[in-house]
This record gives sequence, structure tokens and C-alpha cells, in this order.
Amino acid sequence: MLIDSHAHINFKEYDAELDDVIQRSLDNKTWIINVGSNYESSQKAVEIANKFGLGVWAAIGLHPIHLIKDIEEKTEFEGQETSFFTPKEAFNYNKYYELAKSSDKVVGLGETGLDFFRLADDKHSIAKVKEMQINVFKEFIKLAKETDLPLILHCRGEEKDPLAVYDTMLEILELETGDWRSEGNRGVIHCFGGNLGHALKFIDLGFYIGFTGIVTFKNAKDLQQIAKEIPLDKILVETDAPFLAPDPYRGKRNEPTFVRYVAQKIADLKQVTFEEVEKATFENTSNLFKL
Ligand SMILES: [Zn+2]
Repeated sequence: MLIDSHAHINFKEYDAELDDVIQRSLDNKTWIINVGSNYESSQKAVEIANKFGLGVWAAIGLHPIHLIKDIEEKTEFEGQETSFFTPKEAFNYNKYYELAKSSDKVVGLGETGLDFFRLADDKHSIAKVKEMQINVFKEFIKLAKETDLPLILHCRGEEKDPLAVYDTMLEILELETGDWRSEGNRGVIHCFGGNLGHALKFIDLGFYIGFTGIVTFKNAKDLQQIAKEIPLDKILVETDAPFLAPDPYRGKRNEPTFVRYVAQKIADLKQVTFEEVEKATFENTSNLFKL
């Protein structure tokens, strides 16, 4: 059994065939953590998890890119175009607390974190955007302590200095988590894109390292080296579907069942069997989210 520890089957791309995508995943022995990126998609993740039995869970969160401005985006997979409009959202602690408590299928908080990739606009300075993101991130850490749910962290840096944001995030976690982190595993840094030092520091603070289809790409040599070096008992596999489909599906719409290509790549890199990666990541993910 595999677990896709991070998918967005709550997104519009799946509306027409959601049940099929989930069934295909369960038939292929793949469980799913369905991750929210704002209140609406979080609510939808909870509804989907409630509707399905064993094998589908929800995480609820507010992605840092949705704090500042409305986002209009289009995705296109194999000629199928989907357009999104996501209104900006002010974080409301109580609403997320209530949603977290509304179902025992809510097993994590996220996505939350920092995204400095597209920062300033005409209304906000870079400093202001960073400050807003950091404040909400701290609120999520507080919520994680109060609900005892693990964090699903998103971290993306500025183009001119993509790694600095990892230092910022680690500083915040170190300051804000305190005693709480010594009590166990506290979350996952999803779609990891830092360096080896960052990965080891996250592990130190009680976080797992999440690998997506990016690790299967030919040009991802640094990331592959990190996957090789960190222990298997600290690794989670994920798709981030509909995005980041692994080779051989690169550029197509991703789905949870493709997480096996990520697991296979980790096995190849570590020179262990697929079954070993399957077993370890299953244990890691079910321990973290208490499935
Ligand atoms: Zn995601």
C-alpha cells in the first residue's frame, strides 16, 4: 500500500471524474491525503474525505499565495483547459479550528508556509507581503499545537535567491515550536526544494521530507542526491496532483496513483526495492497523520 501524502483532488480539474480518480487510486492500492489551499477547497477536502471510507483523508489550510490578492489562473493538461478564480482570503483562526474539529477525517493542517516567489504588487511592498505570510504561518503553528495536528508546509523562494526562504522558515519553526516538537513528529515539508543542510534541519525539528514527481526529472540532480542521503524513515512520497506529474507523465495531469513513480525513483536512488520504499513511506505517513 502506498500513500500519496499530498494531492489536490479537491481542485476543479477533477470535478468531472472525481469518483473515478479516487477509485482508480484505491484500486491501485494508493491512499490519499487531500490537501486544501483555502477555506473553500479545505471544506471540499473534508466533504470528499467524509464521503469515502478508508483511504481518503483531508488536510485543511490557507496557502500563502492566497493571502494578498485574488488569483486568476489557467491550467492546461492535454488540451483540457481549466480556469480558476481564487479570491484572496483573510485567515480566520476560529473558522479553521471549527473545520479541523468537524471531522476525524481531518488529519493535518496545510498547506501553510511561505511563498516569496511572486511577491510585490502595486498595493503591497515585499516587506508587507512577507510579514503577512509570516503572521499567518505562526497562527497555523499555534493551531497545530491546539489541535495536535501535523503541519503540511509549503516553502518557495524568490527567483533571485530561492534558498533564503528555507532559512527563514527554519528560524520561525525553531522559535515557535519549542517543547511541542520534542513530543514527536510534527509535520512534513512538502515538495522539498532546499539543500541537504535544510533537509537535515527539518528532520531535526521533527519534520519529514516530501518528494514529488520532480525527483524523477532528469535535471533534478541535486534533489536526487538529497533523496539518496537522507534516511528512508524520514521520507514521504506525494504527487501534488494535478501538478508535477512524474516521468513518464511529465506535463500531463497528475493523479494520486502516479505516486508509485516517485516511490520507484526513491528506490532506484537508494538502491533498495520498491517494496521497501512502499513499506517505509506507508509507515512514515500513517504515523505522522495517525491514520
Ligand atoms: Zn500542494
